[in-house]
Amino acid sequence: MPIQILPAILANQIAAGEVVERPASVIKELVENALDAGATQIDIEIEKGGHKRILVRDNGSGIAKDELSLALSRHATSKIASLDDLEQIISLGFRGEALASISSVARLSLSSKPKAQREAWRAFAEGRDMDVKLEPIAHPDGTSVDVLDLFFNTPARRKFLRTEKTEFSHIEEVIKRIALSRFDVAFTLKHNGKLIKKYPKITDEKNKFKRVSAVFGNSFSERAIQINSQYMQFNLFGWIVGPGGERNQNDLQYVYVNGRMMRDKLINHAIRQAFEGIIDSQLYPAYCLYLTLPPDEVDVNVHPAKHEVRFHEARMVHDFIYRVVNDVLQEQLQCSASEHER
Ligand code: ADP
Ligand code: MG
Repeated sequence: MPIQILPAILANQIAAGEVVERPASVIKELVENALDAGATQIDIEIEKGGHKRILVRDNGSGIAKDELSLALSRHATSKIASLDDLEQIISLGFRGEALASISSVARLSLSSKPKAQREAWRAFAEGRDMDVKLEPIAHPDGTSVDVLDLFFNTPARRKFLRTEKTEFSHIEEVIKRIALSRFDVAFTLKHNGKLIKKYPKITDEKNKFKRVSAVFGNSFSERAIQINSQYMQFNLFGWIVGPGGERNQNDLQYVYVNGRMMRDKLINHAIRQAFEGIIDSQLYPAYCLYLTLPPDEVDVNVHPAKHEVRFHEARMVHDFIYRVVNDVLQEQLQCSASEHER
C-alpha cells in the first residue's frame, strides 16, 4: 500500500480506542467538559446502560455557533494554546480529542447556546471527512451532548460492551467519583427515565461530608476520620476509615490530585504503607483524599485517560501522604487504647 493520509473518521476512530472504552468513559469525558465550561448543574440521562443513549446537559459557558464545528474536530481545544499552558494545566481536558473520538464511534450531536448568543445551534459530524452540519434548535443557555448507538459502526468494539446492568454500574461509579470532585456542582443521573441519583449543590464547607456519606454510605461515614494537613506547598484533605472499616475490595479508595480523580500507584502505595500493621494485609482501607499542590509540581499529560500523574517531587509527595495518614491512624489507635483502659 502506498503511504496515504487516513480519512478523518478513521483517524478519530483510532484515537477513540484510547479514550472511549465503554459508556462510562464517554460520560467521564462529557461531564469533564461540562465542568471545564463552568457548569453548576449537570444532568445525565442514560438509556440501556448507555448502549442506546447518553445525554449530558449543562448550564455552562456554551459554544458559539461558529466554533461548534471546531469543537467536533480532532486536536481542537480552547483549553491550551502553548507548551507553557500545558505545564500549568488546570482544566480537566486539554487534548481536544474527546468529542471527535466519540462522534466517530457513535451518533453524536452537540447543541449549545452561549448566554450572549440569541439562538441555539445543533451540530453533528457526518461521513468520511466528518463534515459538520449545523441547524437551529431550541436550547437554554449551556450545552447538551447527545450520544446515540455507541460503537454502532465499530462492531468489534461493540462486542466488548457488557450487559446493561454492568455498564450502568460503571457509569454510577464514574458519577460518584466526579460528584466527590466538585461539591459545588449539582448532579442528577437518570436511567431509562428513572431518577437514580441526585446530588444537590453544596455551598457550605461544613456540608461536604453530607455528599461523602451519600456516596460512600453509612458504614464509611460512621467511622470516617477527617484529615486536613499542610506541609510546605502540599495539602492533604479528606476522610479515611481506621481499623474496623476495612473492606474486602478496593471499591472505596478515591484520590484526587488538584481536583482530578486519580488511580495513582505512588499515592496508593503511600496509603497502603500507612495502614501496614494496622489492618489485615488481605483487606482494603477506605478513603477519600484530596491532594493539592502547585500545578507545576505535577505532570498530568502521562496517559490519555489521565488516571495517572507524574510528580516532580515523587519521594516528598509519597512521604507526606504516608506520614499524614499514618499519624492520624496512630493517634486513633492510641485513643481507642486509652478508652479501653478506662
Ligand atoms: P478538550 O476537552 O480536551 O478540549 P474535547 O473534544 O472534549 O477536548 O472538547 C473540545 C472543545 O469543545 C473544548 O475545548 C471546549 O472548547 C468545547 N466544549 C466541549 N464540551 C463543552 C461544553 N459542555 N461546554 C462548553 N464547551 C465545550
Ligand atoms: Mg474534553
